Amino acid sequence: MLHFDKVYKKYNGCMALDGISFRVSPREFVSVVGHSGAGKTTLLKMLLAEERPTDGSVFFEQTDIYNLPSREMNALRRRIGVVFQDYRLLQNRTAYENIAFAMEASGKSDDEIAADVPHALELVDLGEKMWNFPHELSGGEKQRVAIARAIVNQPDVLIADEPTGNLDPMNTYDIVQILKRINDLGTTVMLTTHNKGVIDSLGRRVITMEHGKIVRDDPEGRYVL
Ligand code: ADP
Repeated sequence: MLHFDKVYKKYNGCMALDGISFRVSPREFVSVVGHSGAGKTTLLKMLLAEERPTDGSVFFEQTDIYNLPSREMNALRRRIGVVFQDYRLLQNRTAYENIAFAMEASGKSDDEIAADVPHALELVDLGEKMWNFPHELSGGEKQRVAIARAIVNQPDVLIADEPTGNLDPMNTYDIVQILKRINDLGTTVMLTTHNKGVIDSLGRRVITMEHGKIVRDDPEGRYVL
C-alpha cells in the first residue's frame, strides 16, 4: 500500500533520509524508532507530501505521490489521518467541535457530522467529554480527541508522530490500545516513538532508523538501540 523507493532528503548538507526503501501492506501496524535526529519525522513528512524528497519516489498504492497534480495530491492527503505529540486542537472549540471542524473541512454534511462525531468519540472512549474544551481535558484525553479527529473521515492510513511523547505510562497504555483498536478495524497505522514500552507492548513490525538509514526491520517488534 505504501512504498518508499530509495528516498533521499537533504537539508543544507544534512542527509535527513539517506536512501530509504521499504513497503507497508494494507492493515499493517508499523512503528518507526530511532534516536532524536534519526529521520523519523522527515520520513512521515515525505508520506504527507509536506516537502519533496531530494531523490527517490514515494508510492501510495500504485501512485507516485510526487507526480500528482495538486488537486489529486489534496484528495490523497484526505486518505491519511495524522496525530502529533502536541495534539494541535483548536483551544476555543469543544471536543465535538474540533472533530466536526475536520469533517466540515472535507465537505461532509451536517447530518453526517451529527452521526459520525459521537461515534468517533466513543471509539476513543471519550463519549462523555464531548462538550468539554481542551483545557478541561487531561493530556491523554486531548490525544484521544486528536485521534478521533484523525479517523473521523475514515482514512486508509493513520500516522502518529510521537503520540505518547507527553503522556504518563497509564495514558500511554490507553493510547496504544486505541491505536491497536483502530488498526484492528482495518486502518494501516504508522507510529513513531521513543518509548521502548510502547514497542514491547505492541509486538508488531518495527523499523529502526539511524542517521537517515534503516538499520533494522523486524516483523515482531523489538526495540534495539
Ligand atoms: P527525528 O524525527 O528522528 O528526530 P528528523 O526527521 O526530525 O529526526 O530530523 C532528521 C535530521 O534532519 C536532523 O539532523 C535534523 O536536524 C534535520 N532536519 C529536519 N528538518 C529540518 C529542516 N527543516 N531544516 C534543516 N534540517 C532539518
